[in-house]
This record gives sequence, structure tokens and C-alpha cells, in this order.
Amino acid sequence: MEEPAAIVGVLALQGDVLEHEAALREVGAVVRRVRRPSDLAGIEGLVLPGGESTTLSKLLDSSGLFAPIAEAVAEGLPAFGTCAGLILLAAKVEDGRPDQRSFAALDCTVRRNGYGPQRFSFEGVAEPVDAVLGVETGPLPAVFIRAPLVTEVWGDAEVLAREGVGGAPVVLRQRHVLGATFHPELTSDRRVHRLFMDTVRAAAGRSPRAR
Ligand code: GLN
Repeated sequence: MEEPAAIVGVLALQGDVLEHEAALREVGAVVRRVRRPSDLAGIEGLVLPGGESTTLSKLLDSSGLFAPIAEAVAEGLPAFGTCAGLILLAAKVEDGRPDQRSFAALDCTVRRNGYGPQRFSFEGVAEPVDAVLGVETGPLPAVFIRAPLVTEVWGDAEVLAREGVGGAPVVLRQRHVLGATFHPELTSDRRVHRLFMDTVRAAAGRSPRAR
């Protein structure tokens, strides 16, 4: 019998929700929008899209989602944050608002808008460092939009890709938590979303790459 598709939530308070939904469907997920705590029931993974991390932090508080998401991720719910979503997952945030909160699920420091005004928005490449994202398949196209700069990585976080050869980390993973400083949902290379789905399926005890 065919396995039912994995259900992945997309935080839908603000940001590029539609693009993530489309990318997730391409890699075999059933997508559910998460706007209130009850939407978390039954999801097997959660995507935190790009947007504005200061605003997202406020909306997470006012919607009552901050605490249940923090708890679910700490208990092993696979999470994938892009750009502002990665900022929400980082242990330390520089140049944030004083009241900005994060889930501290990735052992890294990020500096908001850290590429500076010269590189406000740019297209670059993410070079996989090993086989996890497919170093043999070559670089991933990477769209950076007021992207955070990862300035420090420690503890259990691994760097999966860098901006260009030897550049700053742009894809990080810590067990079931994945983060990208760029927007893989805006290009057609699905390696990062596919990797996330592998994590979702493994955490849910599903067979790998079932469609
Ligand atoms: N600069 C934004 C922030 O601090 C992130 C931008 C993005 O998600 N594209 O939240």
C-alpha cells in the first residue's frame, strides 16, 4: 500500500509562504498553513519562510505560536527556516530589535542584513561542502534578499554549503533543524527542500523518498 504523503506546515503569518508551498509540493509534501496553535496538530515538519524576522517574532508572540513551536522543535519536530526563518532558528541574533526572540535551535550567530547595503539583494551560488547537498552536482543558485550573514557556528551545527568556495556559511543543519540564509524556494533547484523532506520522513519513521 502506498504511504500517505508527509504533512508539512508552513508558518503563514508573513513572508513568502506561497513559494514554499509550491516547492514543498514538488518534493511530495502535503502542505498545511500554520496561523494558530491548533494548526500545529499533526504536522510532521515546519517551514519558517523569509519575511521580516522582527515582525515574525512579534506575530509569533501575538498569535500564541511562539511557545508551542519552541516546544515542538525542542522535542524533535523537523524545522526548516529560510532567511528570516533562519534568523528565527538561530541561537544568537545581531542587529535585531531588543525584543526580538528566536527559537535558538541552530548553534550559530547571524547578523541581520549582514551583507550590507552593497549586497542588499543579489544572486550568488551556494557551494555544497560535501555529499549531503550534493557537492558532485555542483553549486546551487542562491537568491539573497537582505540576507542574514552567519558569523559564527559552533556546537552541533554543521555547515552544508557556503557562499562560493570558502565563503560564509549559507546552509546549516543541526540534527532535525535546517536553515538557509538565501531563498531556495525562489529557484528551481530542489536539493534543500528535498533534504528537508528526507529529515521529515526519517523523523516520522517513513521510508525515504516515498512519494
Ligand atoms: N532582513 C530580514 C530580517 O531581518 C530577512 C530578509 C528575508 O527574509 N528575505 O528578517
